Amino acid sequence: MLIYHLKCIFIQIYVKLLLLYMGNKEAICNIMFADTGKGMVTDMKKIPYKIYLEENEIPTHWYNLRAEMKNKPAPLLNPETLQPMTAEELKAVFCDELVTQELDDTNAYIPIPQEIQDFYKMYRPSPLVRAYCLEEKLQTPAKIYYKFEGNNTSGSHKLNSAIAQAYYAKKQGLKGVTTETGAGQWGTALSMACAYFGLDCLVYMVKVSYEQKPFRREVMRTYGATVTPSPSETTEIGRKILAEHPGTSGSLGCAISEAVEAEMGREGYRYVLGSVLNQVLLHQTVIGLEAKAALDKYEIVPDIIIGCAGGGSNLGGLISPFAGEMIRGERNYRIIGVEPASCPSFTRGVFAYDFCDTGKVCPLAKMYTLGSGFIPSANHAGGLRYHGMSPVLSQLYHDGIMEAVSVEQTSVFDAATQFARVEGILPAPESSHAIRVAIDEALKCKETGEEKTIVFGLTGTGYFDMVAYEKYNNGEMRDYVPADADLKPGLDGIPRFPGNEF
Ligand SMILES: *Cc1c(COP(=O)(O)O)cnc(C)c1O
Repeated sequence: MLIYHLKCIFIQIYVKLLLLYMGNKEAICNIMFADTGKGMVTDMKKIPYKIYLEENEIPTHWYNLRAEMKNKPAPLLNPETLQPMTAEELKAVFCDELVTQELDDTNAYIPIPQEIQDFYKMYRPSPLVRAYCLEEKLQTPAKIYYKFEGNNTSGSHKLNSAIAQAYYAKKQGLKGVTTETGAGQWGTALSMACAYFGLDCLVYMVKVSYEQKPFRREVMRTYGATVTPSPSETTEIGRKILAEHPGTSGSLGCAISEAVEAEMGREGYRYVLGSVLNQVLLHQTVIGLEAKAALDKYEIVPDIIIGCAGGGSNLGGLISPFAGEMIRGERNYRIIGVEPASCPSFTRGVFAYDFCDTGKVCPLAKMYTLGSGFIPSANHAGGLRYHGMSPVLSQLYHDGIMEAVSVEQTSVFDAATQFARVEGILPAPESSHAIRVAIDEALKCKETGEEKTIVFGLTGTGYFDMVAYEKYNNGEMRDYVPADADLKPGLDGIPRFPGNEF
């Protein structure tokens, strides 16, 4: 026994000296405190690598931040009359219950139907992970957490809204839904949700993705969806766009126009959208509610909350409960939305009413926008390509409740690779925008010695993005930051009418 103890002490001293020699302060710290039961190791004991809630802690209500916002997001406008869209008008396009949610600026909590809660149990609660390995790698005093939404076949947070939208379509007795998909995550999530409820699912997939991501397409077809590359000959707007721009690789805005037209021409169908709209952001609040519950369990109060921003649904969902506290004056956080430098809606767009789609058939939304005609450079690899931004987030940004930064894609893939190698998860390029800024903030803490707590949204996995990773690994990835002249045509296409000055 004594010999064993002596051996242990010798080994410890030896290891300490070795580490001292290697200059690894952090590891020494671990071993030293292991003796006394203080400091880092106790910290590690107290806060696990993953905080999992119990199944019965999955939220039973979505949280509607609009009820608390002093300046409400502006209503959608009818593009012909320029009057706010009425519920009746919206019901021609969207499911009845979703229209109610879209227009609800007053109820802070909206019950999640039991069937949706049951489906959530298949892949929720999602873990809140303490990125101990990343912290160690960066040698930062910052404490980094991420909420991981990639643990389902669709590989992203999009399933949180897809299942809700499919449920309401089924409940209304509809036959099916139409939608668009860019990189394919939304189409996949919706295909899964439609398969579950036995609904027909018609997906217009941006042509360049349809060709570059055949496996995504096959996943959707495996779940029973019909996938059409957009622009296509199957709609009037598709034929028009093809005639004007032969050989175009398509865009989200264009696929939206086709999906809406396809819905209008079909009895018993409605159109569903994977981001931007108030209802989608509402469904995504399960992310923020779970994250907050997990943090509260261990009395962790974040200083900085970071999320990537395409149409804004995951970011809005993550930050809603925290932004609510800010609006009520209870707490203060730094909230940062991260977007690609090649599609910079927040940081270089204007706050104005604009079309949500290229074909200009959808209602006008007041948002930060680059113009519905904006198409990101073909060399942009990382998703988040929508020209506009959620009206809720646009208003929060406008009111100074959140900030935004843009990052270039090679630095995003640097962060993705660094993260994958220490934390194990292969992140989606979209999510890696948030990783980039989380790492940047953690490195700032290293400079200043501040122990800030950083929470970021890890929205999904990147298995279908290997063409982009390959480009990066081959050293062929280039950054592209549009010049003002490149953005001008898009911005010039934003409609001008009294009250829409920008
Ligand atoms: C779609 C997607 C996003 C961006 O969409 P938001 O509506 O802005 O959240 C981010 N990450 C992943 C993995 C996605 O699939």
